[in-house]
Amino acid sequence: MSVIVQKYGGTSVADVDRIRNVANRVIKTYNGGNDVVVILSAMSGVTDSLIGLAHQVTEDPDRREMDVLLATGEQTTASLLAMMLVSMGYPAASLLGYQAEVLTDDAFGRARIKEIGANRIKSFLGENKIVVVAGFQGCDEEGNITTLGRGGSDTSAVAIAAAIKADSCEIYTDVNGIYTTDPNICKKARKLDQISYDEMLEMASLGAKVLQIRSVEFAKKYNVPIHLRSSFTEEEGTMVVEETADMERVVVSGVTYNKNEARITLKKVPDQPGIAAKILTPIADAGILVDMIIQNIRAGGQTDLTFTVPKLDFKKALKIEEEIARKIGAEEVLGDEHIAKISVTGIGMKSHSGVATKMFAALAAENINIMLISTSEIRISCVVEEKYTELAVQTLHTAFGLDKENE
Ligand code: ADP
Ligand code: ASP
Ligand code: MG
Repeated sequence: MSVIVQKYGGTSVADVDRIRNVANRVIKTYNGGNDVVVILSAMSGVTDSLIGLAHQVTEDPDRREMDVLLATGEQTTASLLAMMLVSMGYPAASLLGYQAEVLTDDAFGRARIKEIGANRIKSFLGENKIVVVAGFQGCDEEGNITTLGRGGSDTSAVAIAAAIKADSCEIYTDVNGIYTTDPNICKKARKLDQISYDEMLEMASLGAKVLQIRSVEFAKKYNVPIHLRSSFTEEEGTMVVEETADMERVVVSGVTYNKNEARITLKKVPDQPGIAAKILTPIADAGILVDMIIQNIRAGGQTDLTFTVPKLDFKKALKIEEEIARKIGAEEVLGDEHIAKISVTGIGMKSHSGVATKMFAALAAENINIMLISTSEIRISCVVEEKYTELAVQTLHTAFGLDKENE
């Protein structure tokens, strides 16, 4: 007998028929003699519409109340699935995040899991029940409801799997595995049988939303193998595991894109020591994460400084910079929300040169202008106009030899 954690994402629980499909899968696993803990997302689109509702109330919703609201999405699906299982004659019970003792810090909207008690999960399992846990939510030390950031149910699943020492953690979604790039924008994307935690971490941090980055961090830390697969078919998906010697060692293993950032440029800034700190410290003080930064030197003791911030913080950052521009005597502040960051990743890059130039040449051949560049040991990212996202991803996928062979 094994302890199996199964997580089903938004499209897999989008309506009652799909919840029935989930119930049947869960029952099959249970009837195989296993202990089953199911983690659910909200129905697809529900979290977005709850956010929309809050913004009809106020432009800047209170963060604590926002989490109380958002947690209802997962409360709905967890109760519906447990109710369905019971109606089908199987013992089942749902638990909300706090009942499953998912203890987090108090960073509403992006809380981090500190520890999971899981006593009630274990005692329900002891009673032979199927346990259904609402994903994406927990509570802080004071008992306030918190949520784990978009896509956070993945993290709930992996953290619970680690806490109860599950034998496997299956993440069911609307694609049948992890691909070299998003199969929904690149027809030639190739499905991977396995991927290392480190490569998946890199892809997730650069925008591949197939797994939330924190779920991969947890999986790596507690050595939880993840099996990512489709909830609509029976085929094997992709295993996310510790790197092994026999893993495919290509220079570039994936292409990712991220449309969630915006660009801010301060033009004609006096070029003096300390100016970058003056421009960027207030952004950091406001809790806004700056990703890429570039400085262009002009003639005449002036410089332009460009940086990117999450789109969600764009308006706030722009306001801050308009104020700073006045103080330091910069000519103007420009903002652009229509950008995309395209990245190529691969552990093999560590020992290879020429990846960056190949990337730039491939984009240039398609007349795609590069606005910003950043590199690390195992990735290169370029910011381009948002409208070129698909073309840039497809071009790089082909240029680095990742296309699947013709079937
Ligand atoms: P869920 O609601 O099940 O959590 P998500 O929408 O969060 O599902 O994640 C699945 C989506 O991730 C896919 O539909 C796909 O468009 C996207 N995706 C992005 N990059 C990749 C990739 N490299 N491999 C597979 N899917 C990817
Ligand atoms: N419902 C949440 C979201 O849409 C969490 C999740 O689906 O993982 O982000
Ligand atoms: Mg997701």
